[in-house]
Amino acid sequence: MAHITDLDAYRRQIRAWLAQATVPEVPLDLEGRFTVLRAWQKTLYEAGFVGISWSKAVGGQGLTPLHQLVFSEELARAGAPQPIGLIGVDVVGKSIETYGREWQREQLLPRLLSGDDIWCQGFSEPESGSDLASLRTRARIEGDEFVINGQKVWTSWAHKAQWCALLARTDADAPKHRGISYILVDMSTPGVTARPLVQMTGDDEFCEVFFEDVRVPVGNLVGKLHEGWAIAQDTLSHERGSYTLRRRVEYEVAVEEAVRDLRDHVDETGTEPSDWVLEQLGRSYTAVRSLEALTRRTIERQLAGDIPSPLDSVDKLSLNEVEQLVYTSITNVLGPFRLAADGVAFGLDGPRWVKDHYYSRAASIYGGTSQIQKNIIGERLLGLPRG
Ligand SMILES: Cc1cc2nc3c(=O)[nH]c(=O)nc-3n(C[C@H](O)[C@H](O)[C@H](O)COP(=O)(O)OP(=O)(O)OC[C@H]3O[C@@H](n4cnc5c(N)ncnc54)[C@H](O)[C@@H]3O)c2cc1C
Repeated sequence: MAHITDLDAYRRQIRAWLAQATVPEVPLDLEGRFTVLRAWQKTLYEAGFVGISWSKAVGGQGLTPLHQLVFSEELARAGAPQPIGLIGVDVVGKSIETYGREWQREQLLPRLLSGDDIWCQGFSEPESGSDLASLRTRARIEGDEFVINGQKVWTSWAHKAQWCALLARTDADAPKHRGISYILVDMSTPGVTARPLVQMTGDDEFCEVFFEDVRVPVGNLVGKLHEGWAIAQDTLSHERGSYTLRRRVEYEVAVEEAVRDLRDHVDETGTEPSDWVLEQLGRSYTAVRSLEALTRRTIERQLAGDIPSPLDSVDKLSLNEVEQLVYTSITNVLGPFRLAADGVAFGLDGPRWVKDHYYSRAASIYGGTSQIQKNIIGERLLGLPRG
């Protein structure tokens, strides 16, 4: 584990850098947000702040998950946004670093970290979400190519992505968890079509993706043929565990921001908030502190290499519950003002918080639903019978 003084020095270094950096304003609309955050990722990468815990050989900094956490904390506290390519950086990229071939690691990962390439995760299908192993997208081998046919859905950022980490069935006769392969697909390959879907936030952040006779070199396989399921578990573990570390800091800053706006409002108007309003914010604060305690254990697990683990499901379930509690509570404070396009109440800006509140509804679905996390916890941590 990194010595505490190293981390203190690292924190000071980040603060000094952020103090002189031009931190971008992030537009609410998706196109504007994507453009600004992609440029911001490049700036962060060039300063050595993307891929902090990744190996130097693939463009990272060779530091620890603790250094990554310190950076996420300082970034959020400075009011600075996260980079855009988090599906690559926090979810699929680490699996490619662990299981990928040399060319994949050397050629693809530095561009993934810099944001030159945006990645998407092609796992879920119309009939295969929770029961992911039942997926039906097929990849057959012809000469030195895979020929891929099928459909994915809910694929975040697929319409913006250069690359997709795809799960496809390569052996239809094997039991369903076997016979699946993990294949990297260049999204500009003929036969790939990404059609955006609009979420309740109003953004078309995810897509349905169609693969029609898509030809991909067999060298794009990650790990071994038919053995992609274990790699998919590794990817999902990053989505459930590492992602929670980053998001936790954002909730904490959201609560602090709401409290600060409310306090300013009280100072300006002299109106005291009701006990009910204070209770909403107090419960959010407590939930964020509990999540912080949990994520300290996650860091210890990461440092000890205890990943993937059913404990990732505890992280994901907790992330979901805290995210929904925080944004629901803040939106509750807005009361009927949340419905007005320019609604402001108790110093809180309606449209901004309502968007976060709508997005928080997805937290109990993406990365595996809450019911599925509870099943994993029940069966694998508590030893309860299936079902
Ligand atoms: C914002 C967002 C982004 C996403 N991004 C991606 C992405 O980039 N890539 C990707 O591959 N996928 C992505 N997903 C898809 C996500 O992983 C799936 O939606 C999720 O796994 C659930 O699958 P499903 O939608 O097919 O629901 P279903 O599996 O059909 O589930 C429907 C309901 O039944 C419940 N259920 C199902 N099985 C069980 C069971 N055994 N026990 C108890 N309850 C059960 C579920 O909990 C749920 O409430 C995203 C989803 C969202 C919301």
